[in-house]
Amino acid sequence: MHKNSLGLSDALYCYLLENSLREPEILGKLRAETATHRQARMQISPEQGQLMALLVQLMGAKRALEVGVFTGYSSTCVALALPADGEIIACDVNAEYTAIARRYWQAAGVAHKIKLHLGPALQTLDHLLAQGQAETFDFAFIDADKGNYAHYYDRAFQLLRPGGLMAIDNVLWSGRVADPTEQDKITQTIRAFNQKVADDDRVTLSLLSIADGLTLALKTPS
Ligand code: SAM
Ligand code: CA
Repeated sequence: MHKNSLGLSDALYCYLLENSLREPEILGKLRAETATHRQARMQISPEQGQLMALLVQLMGAKRALEVGVFTGYSSTCVALALPADGEIIACDVNAEYTAIARRYWQAAGVAHKIKLHLGPALQTLDHLLAQGQAETFDFAFIDADKGNYAHYYDRAFQLLRPGGLMAIDNVLWSGRVADPTEQDKITQTIRAFNQKVADDDRVTLSLLSIADGLTLALKTPS
């Protein structure tokens, strides 16, 4: 198994998966198909999907938001963990990637829980806010274009209920955030984003070193 969790040896990563991964068959099939895709690296790791499913169950979440669907691995993990009347509002711009996701949502029996909004996610989130959907979501997963992370964070924060949880992916950016020689635009943007979240006293925070770094930000009830 190829190592895709920062800081773990290949052997330790394999051990972790062998001793904890409980991946439903349909997710294994999706992961195998996505592995042949030219953008395969965009998919979240299976242990991260399992963690997100656990968090959704722990919270008793019913409504979830996803920004960045790709071939549907994270949305399928979350949808399987939601109750029968649960719902995901899923955002992506790419019809080709999400056609694969739609196929697996059907096969996993969760298509009825997922509403895909094809278009720039910022527009979708602003539309949800304009419709009066502030504070109606329990869980939000942010995993799309990094340049908009701060904007997604601000909107998702408003859309979450107090006590709702936001998970933001790739916050360690393959370790580049901690390497001062890395001064490219995306790395600087992620550093600034991490600082913004660290300074936000409206959230209870944990940055996990799972996969490529996952920030959990709980909208602290006032
Ligand atoms: N969460 C996915 C998974 O588990 O496989 C991976 C998401 S992938 C890293 C990022 C996705 O964001 C891509 O599918 C891309 O089409 C989408 N994306 C990029 N820019 C976007 C935008 N402005 N609005 C919505 N989606 C966007
Ligand atoms: Ca990601």
